Amino acid sequence: MSDISVRIDQVKSNIRDASNKVNRNPEEVLLLGVTKTVDVDVIEEALEYGITDVGENKPQELQRKYGLIGNRAKWHQIGTLQTNKVKYIIDKVDLIHSLDRMGLAEEINKRADSIGRDIRCLVQVNVSKEETKHGIYVEDLETFIRECADKFKRIKIVGLMTMAPDSDDEDEVRAIFRKLKEVFENIKNMSIEGVEMKELSMGMSGDYQIAIEEGSTIIRVGTSIFGKRNYNI
Ligand SMILES: *Cc1c(COP(=O)(O)O)cnc(C)c1O
Repeated sequence: MSDISVRIDQVKSNIRDASNKVNRNPEEVLLLGVTKTVDVDVIEEALEYGITDVGENKPQELQRKYGLIGNRAKWHQIGTLQTNKVKYIIDKVDLIHSLDRMGLAEEINKRADSIGRDIRCLVQVNVSKEETKHGIYVEDLETFIRECADKFKRIKIVGLMTMAPDSDDEDEVRAIFRKLKEVFENIKNMSIEGVEMKELSMGMSGDYQIAIEEGSTIIRVGTSIFGKRNYNI
């Protein structure tokens, strides 16, 4: 067995354990393989071993890999998305995790309309208000979502995404996830027309078990499957 298959098994087993701990069905949690900087042949191996969805943070990289893998995977745009790069991914992505500003929403809507399809998006929330992080502040979220839903009919908001602080303090990380889940439920209860609060994208290699315990439905896992890479190349 290859390293990749062993690592995927390990992550899946951890998903089951974390789900069992809080009486959740592990099937409710999507394991998104974060494949930034990973070669196509390695991605192929992960697909063979049951990964169905992959996440990229650079639109041109997504575009290139999509050209080779196509619809054998579902493609997710994670991480900051520059407005002028929406055009590379608009006809390829199943879900955009990083809707974080009105200008981006406008561009996604425009591009989506030009190809005649709706685009599913998660609103990225900056729960911890770290300056280095992108995302809408919790107190601005309702207004942002209502405005998006009202103006941009091609955008289907289906949930929220956040990045936890890069911290060893488990309680601090858990508090961020718990807060996002609470906000998620609040927005859900508002039943905003055109908005469906279904997905909660939270948890990465270092903290996905905590995220699952706190209600995550999509975990974004790179390092634990593909090993350490230099993300800055
Ligand atoms: C790289 C990245 C991940 C995966 O991080 P790992 O720690 O390697 O699992 C998840 N989400 C986003 C937005 C990323 O950029």
